[in-house]
Amino acid sequence: MGQTHAERRARLAALVAAAELDALLVTRLVNVRYLTGLDSSNAALLVRAEGPALLATDGRYAGMVEAVCPELEVEVDRMTARALTASAGVRRLGFEAHAVTVAEHTALTALEGAPELVPAGTLVEDLRTVKDEHELALLGHACALTDRAFEAVLPMIAPGATEREIAIALERAMIDLGAEGPAFASIVASGQNGAVPHHHPADREIARGDLVTLDFGARYGGYHADMTRTVAAGAVAQWQRDLYDLVRKAQQAAVDAATPDAEITAVDAAARDIIEAAGHGGDFPHAVGHGVGLEIGEAPLMGYGRTGKLRDRVPITAEPGVYLAGRGGVRIEDTLVVRPGGPELLTKTTKDLLVL
Ligand code: ZN
Ligand code: ZN
Repeated sequence: MGQTHAERRARLAALVAAAELDALLVTRLVNVRYLTGLDSSNAALLVRAEGPALLATDGRYAGMVEAVCPELEVEVDRMTARALTASAGVRRLGFEAHAVTVAEHTALTALEGAPELVPAGTLVEDLRTVKDEHELALLGHACALTDRAFEAVLPMIAPGATEREIAIALERAMIDLGAEGPAFASIVASGQNGAVPHHHPADREIARGDLVTLDFGARYGGYHADMTRTVAAGAVAQWQRDLYDLVRKAQQAAVDAATPDAEITAVDAAARDIIEAAGHGGDFPHAVGHGVGLEIGEAPLMGYGRTGKLRDRVPITAEPGVYLAGRGGVRIEDTLVVRPGGPELLTKTTKDLLVL
């Protein structure tokens, strides 16, 4: 892995040079992890346009650095960003303006002999968007654990079980199967709670005839899976089946549209047009999907007028939903990888309506 991280730093160094910066101060911890392998709560990395990178972290992680990235020169200092800025010895220092607070920026500029601090955009996030096969294997495993946890918990989804019990069972199943933990707080939304896209599981008991939406995922090797299925607890009314069929059709359209060079807006429109044509445009109040990786939501974000193109080896979700206030909702979500031969679904759980 050391080699992989060194390659990532080399690619970043080229971008730093192209931006006419002498170095980039990386302070977003997830970006430090991507570039070094170090998973910590306090670290910063200085990536020079030329020359070796310099890592700073505090004493709690010194031993971990030895194990994870022994090739890096390390400064052990609790004030990581300030230590690197003070010792950078550069003229133009890029920084992650989206991650540095005003207070931190003020402190950096006040340092004796501080370099010129230049907002450098999202250079590392941009690099992270296209995954290598090692990353895709970790994400694929996280998705496989997600599929298996769903299967394990399915028998529990019955009248009398509460949303919270099901959410806890999902998270327990993922961890038992080998996940590091849940990728995010699991959503279990039953009956009319299904009309709230990000409902917090509560003590509501599943009732016969409810649609139940489960949105959850496993984290493995730092990579986040994300899947949603809506199932029926017993007898399904016609409106529920119609709603399900509509969302399923829209979701499939979004999946099919996720090809290399596809405009992000086209993927969103593929699902949204179908939902709008059915008269439910106003009932689909969120983006069609988002990138996944070391974060549960990362570039590319899709919807809300975001533009740009997909590329080969970019993992995204496709997750349209329709929410009817006071009645319930349906969302179906897969994690997939954009590939030249067509999208590769990493979550493989059936999308036939399961009537339990
Ligand atoms: Zn989700
Ligand atoms: Zn999602």
